[in-house]
Amino acid sequence: MTSEVESALRGPEAFNLAKRALEAMEAAGAWPTPLNYELWLHFVGDPDGALGREMTRLLNAKEGFTEGTAEMLAAEFLPRGRLSEEIRDAGAVLNRELTSVASAIAQAQKSQAAYGETLAGASASMQNVEQPEALREVVTGLSVATAKVRQENAHLEARLEDSTKEVARLREHLEQVRRDAMTDALTNLANRKAFDEELLRACDDSERDGTPMTLALLDIDHFKRFNDTWGHQTGDQVLRYVASVIGRISKHPRVAARYGGEEFAVIFPGETAATVEAALNAIRQEIGSRALRRRSTDDELGAVTISAGLAERHTGESGSQLLDRSDAALYVSKHNGRDRVTSAERMKTAAAA
Ligand code: C2E
Repeated sequence: MTSEVESALRGPEAFNLAKRALEAMEAAGAWPTPLNYELWLHFVGDPDGALGREMTRLLNAKEGFTEGTAEMLAAEFLPRGRLSEEIRDAGAVLNRELTSVASAIAQAQKSQAAYGETLAGASASMQNVEQPEALREVVTGLSVATAKVRQENAHLEARLEDSTKEVARLREHLEQVRRDAMTDALTNLANRKAFDEELLRACDDSERDGTPMTLALLDIDHFKRFNDTWGHQTGDQVLRYVASVIGRISKHPRVAARYGGEEFAVIFPGETAATVEAALNAIRQEIGSRALRRRSTDDELGAVTISAGLAERHTGESGSQLLDRSDAALYVSKHNGRDRVTSAERMKTAAAA
């Protein structure tokens, strides 16, 4: 669930939002299942978000809203739900593996005990062996018991090897799911949740090590106008384009994220405002240098521009304070005519002068 919808559900508009979700669900002829309710909460709470837009498209297409449709939307747009489902599945597989290994071990223990008894019996029989025939019998009995135990051990080994492989496969799969849950599906940049975690971490590192750190917010200029003129699909392509340029210039340890609809954020660990300002101007110029085309009709879309704001972290400053200052700098870029980068540090200097 997006954090905006999540906080709206704990604010003064909570019940109003819940009622609207139920009404809209009824109007669309969808059953009030928990999953549908969650989808409709997003739909009415954030109609312009990725899920809201996709639901508008599906509902306008009047193809009927089935449980399959709901599952598909949930898998695509509700990563948290998908993550817990995957974790449940992984738990079931692990459980199966552990049960099977435990039963192989129990079986091997039984065989070992039986083997011990056979050895003890053989040792007792040896005391009274006089005939070579009887000796042969004891030795044959021992070799049969040894072969059986060896076979059980080989089986246990194979079982353990299979389980080790299965658990490794599971670990890899969960790692992929975790990565997906932290990634914005449209742009492939980190999503808001991943960004929030990275920002906390970067602030902690900067405070602990006394190293600089800078945060930037970038926003596509006039994106709404663009969307209204050319449609959401082309709007999505523009988001992908801007994200691809930001992503290229934001290699590790920089972290680029889709922060909201058409807003992006980049964390620059270890970097000062001056170097970040230069990097942002490079991003801004590269984005603005390309004339985009609408793929479906080949119409010329022109260039898109971005505005950006940045702030370098002060000692003791929290992530949200840093965000507020970057946002204020972004606002100044917008206010001063867009297509520009504003540093909160310079604003401060200018105000002081
Ligand atoms: P995409 O369509 O998946 O393209 C991925 C990359 O393939 C592009 O990365 C670019 O390196 C290359 N590519 C694809 N089509 C063309 C093409 O017609 N000419 C050239 N020279 N290269 C091409 P890039 O440029 O970073 O773009 C990333 C994404 O941004 C694209 O993903 C697409 O979704 C969007 N995009 C970029 N330019 C345009 C455009 O002019 N029109 C539209 N509709 N979308 C664009």
